[in-house]
Amino acid sequence: MSWIKGIKLLLNDFVYKAPRSLNEALKLIREEDAKVLAGGHSLIPLMKLGFASPESLIDIGKLEELQAIEETNGVLTVGSCVSYRALFESEMVKSYVPLLSKVASQVGDPQVRARGTVGGSLVHGDPASDIAGAILALDATVELVSLNGKGDIVKRKVPAREFFVGFLETVIEDDEILHSISFKNKCHKFSFQKITRREQDWAIVGVAVAQSMHGIGIGLVNLASKPVYLDIKKYEDISELDPEGVSLLLDSVIDPPADIYGDAEYRRHLAEVLLLRCLKEIKETT
Ligand SMILES: Cc1cc2nc3c(=O)[nH]c(=O)nc-3n(C[C@H](O)[C@H](O)[C@H](O)COP(=O)(O)OP(=O)(O)OC[C@H]3O[C@@H](n4cnc5c(N)ncnc54)[C@H](O)[C@@H]3O)c2cc1C
Repeated sequence: MSWIKGIKLLLNDFVYKAPRSLNEALKLIREEDAKVLAGGHSLIPLMKLGFASPESLIDIGKLEELQAIEETNGVLTVGSCVSYRALFESEMVKSYVPLLSKVASQVGDPQVRARGTVGGSLVHGDPASDIAGAILALDATVELVSLNGKGDIVKRKVPAREFFVGFLETVIEDDEILHSISFKNKCHKFSFQKITRREQDWAIVGVAVAQSMHGIGIGLVNLASKPVYLDIKKYEDISELDPEGVSLLLDSVIDPPADIYGDAEYRRHLAEVLLLRCLKEIKETT
């Protein structure tokens, strides 16, 4: 059991390490039973519940290079340790991919938005992650880093649509850190619809839609065991999508969970209503 300033924490003992560089962090995570800590809003609750008990926590939250938001050659890159608040306050994000800004402003409450990070949410791989819905819709690329045999940093790029593989499971390897998320398409037509039980809460169901010059992307939140991408490339005109068409399309990818907030049928119904609302909003955006 750990103690901080005389307060007993309901956590197993662990060693806290705060590396000063990405290279050092990547070395430290290769140690046995080490886990990356960013904002701690998903990991610490898991540790309190006893579902995770790493021997050491490698705090990457203060590494400057993971906090950057920058545009180079028309590609916007968001560091993995950017908080939701920094994301929705960024003018660059608002002008490039405003969907991301809108979604970030609706995650949890002010405390969660101040500490929770984009990378933490994606690596945690919760099917109810709002930001996952947005990056699927925006056809983003996830950039992972690790050390090669010579100790140099190497990058691996994964399309967001291939990043999530199952419940709380992604393609990231134990020796990798999510470095950043990049967006190559500017996208000003978008819609995000989220039904919550109360203000500032998780989505019972959420739908994110983005339209760029390359087509429409749809990300679905809390409608299967992982965040889901809905492919509608075969529809050249979205006005072809009536309620029946939307229902058939959704059926091909969703497998809604059931919990105290709603059964699978209720979630299926919400998904249809929200997707139709999103498509209407997109159509009406000039
Ligand atoms: C009260 C509350 C309300 C919430 N409401 C919402 C909501 O409405 N919508 C929503 O989408 N989410 C919600 N969340 C979840 C919140 O968005 C996530 O907990 C948060 O974003 C996770 O980020 P973090 O930085 O805290 O990650 P951490 O808890 O630090 O880490 C989470 C996991 O990711 C790993 N990790 C973190 N960063 C990296 C990295 N860069 N590279 C490799 N691995 C990494 C950690 O090892 C850990 O396994 C809520 C959480 C709380 C506590």
